[in-house]
Amino acid sequence: MERGKMEPVEAKCPKCGYTEIVYIPVEEFPKCPRCGTQMVINELLDEGKSY
Ligand SMILES: [Zn+2]
Repeated sequence: MERGKMEPVEAKCPKCGYTEIVYIPVEEFPKCPRCGTQMVINELLDEGKSY
């Protein structure tokens, strides 16, 4: 198991605004489950706050 490599980021759909947390590096950024648009990184999340 790898440790300390995964970075949580917020992925956001530029079309409808749907957001989802993903952990990078990922092979492929997810597509929006609502409209199917390729999601983009919204912001880096600060690890260890408000879990
Ligand atoms: Zn969408």
